[in-house]
Amino acid sequence: MEIALFTCLADNYAVLLRDEATGMVALVDAPAAEPVMTELEKRGWGLDLILITHGHHDHIAGVPALVARSGAKVIAPALAADMLPKADRFVREGDRFSIGEIAVEVWDTPGHCLDHISYHLPADEMIFVGDTMFTMGCGRIFNLPPDLLFASLRRIGSLPETTRIFSGHEYTLSNARFAAATEPENGLIRARLRTIEAMRAGGLPTVPTTVREERATNVFLRAKDLAEFAARREAKNRF
Ligand code: FE
Ligand code: ZN
Repeated sequence: MEIALFTCLADNYAVLLRDEATGMVALVDAPAAEPVMTELEKRGWGLDLILITHGHHDHIAGVPALVARSGAKVIAPALAADMLPKADRFVREGDRFSIGEIAVEVWDTPGHCLDHISYHLPADEMIFVGDTMFTMGCGRIFNLPPDLLFASLRRIGSLPETTRIFSGHEYTLSNARFAAATEPENGLIRARLRTIEAMRAGGLPTVPTTVREERATNVFLRAKDLAEFAARREAKNRF
């Protein structure tokens, strides 16, 4: 598989996946059409599928123009149907499809918002989690009880430790600083903060991360119980 990750808008990421066996190309999230078209043209790729993680504007705004220009089919969360009424297929927990020969399984991962899903590629050890988890962080909670997001994070964290996690935003510098303030005795967090600072100073993306790295340095995943998770999420909102 070929993977292209690139920035859209200020800090959103979009990812293109190309199955080499069939040439099929899928986009995960569509913050804007223009950067996606530029990336496709640069690589000489068509666009067959658009996979949406949740119905927030900064993940779907590019859909209409991309569909008009490429004819791509749109796969969207069942609970985001009001935001994406023209999607070709609505999916939820347990649904499966493929990008050429790449097998994809849908997980419900509510918590940032209720409609949020993630796309798990088990054979390729990859998961696309949108705004559920970020590198060293997690999404904000919009009017939902915190147990939903905590359960979704723990489920992602239970995947094999070599699994790569692709998230929807570059928020890692802020997340790493918060992590260092939250677990000041954690040497792996301190070391990773320095790595992240160097990567961002060099303009490098900190996505994807891995389950192994997140288990060691993500203070939301590491929270010992729901109360600690909820307190850390609240504290991050004010950090
Ligand atoms: Fe969002
Ligand atoms: Zn977002």
